[in-house]
Amino acid sequence: MERMPVLFVGHGSPMNAIERNRFVTQWEGLAARLPRPQAILSVSAHWFTSGTRVMDSSNPRMIYDMYGFPEELYQVVYKAPGAPDFAHATRELIGDKVAIDDTWGFDHGTWTVLRSIYPKADIPVFQLSVDTHASAWDHYQMGAKLRVLREQGVLILGSGNIVHNLSRINWDMDGGYPWSEEFDNYIKDNVLSRNHENVIRFEQAGPSSALSFTSLDHFAPLLYVLGASDERDHVSVFNDSCTLGSLSMTSYLLD
Ligand code: ZN
Repeated sequence: MERMPVLFVGHGSPMNAIERNRFVTQWEGLAARLPRPQAILSVSAHWFTSGTRVMDSSNPRMIYDMYGFPEELYQVVYKAPGAPDFAHATRELIGDKVAIDDTWGFDHGTWTVLRSIYPKADIPVFQLSVDTHASAWDHYQMGAKLRVLREQGVLILGSGNIVHNLSRINWDMDGGYPWSEEFDNYIKDNVLSRNHENVIRFEQAGPSSALSFTSLDHFAPLLYVLGASDERDHVSVFNDSCTLGSLSMTSYLLD
C-alpha cells in the first residue's frame, strides 16, 4: 500500500464551503495530488473537548457549529461513511485515555474542506478531537503516534488556521495585519526547515504569537500533522496568505 501524505489545511471562513474563491480552487486540485486514501482522519479545530475523543460511528451525523451565516450553509450535507475500524486503531495508538464519542459528527472544520477535495464523499472519514488541556508538545506527540496510520492508507488531515483571532477579524480586508503575516512567516520558515521545536515553542515568535490566537484549538491540528511527518516528507505550501486581517489560510502538504 502506498504511504499516504499528511495534510494541514487552513479552513478559514465557513463560507468557503459554498463560495468560489482562490482558496477553494486549491482545495479542488488536491485530490489529483494525493494517492486515493482508504480513510481520512480529520483532526478538526472545531471539536475542542476535555480529553481526546475519537468518533467510531459508521454513519457520522452533520454538525453545524457556526452561527449567523446564510441558510444555504446549514443545508450542506457531506455523506461520507465513518471508519470504525480505523477509529479503534487510532484509539489503540494514542492510548486508553482516548474516549469513543459519537455525540459529535462532521463539523465545519471537516466538511468545508472535504466537500471541495472529495466531493463524492465516497471515502470513509472519522474525526479526532483536540484536547483543551493538552500542551503544544502533547499534541505533537499524539501526532507522532498516528504516523503508522499513513502506511495503512489513512490520510491525516489537520483542519485549523495558523493565525485565528476572531476578535480582530475585518471582513472587508483582503490580506493580513502585519502581525498575522509575521507569525505566519515564522511558522512557515520553521515548517519548511523542519525545525518543529520552534513550531511547538511558537511563543518564540514574539508578540505576534499572542495576537495570532488565544487558545490552541486552530493551531493544534498543524502539530498533529507535523508529528505524523518524518524526514522523508517533502513540504509544499499552498494558499500561502492571510485574509480578513487575522486569519491565515496557509496550508501544507507533506509527502
Ligand atoms: Zn475554524
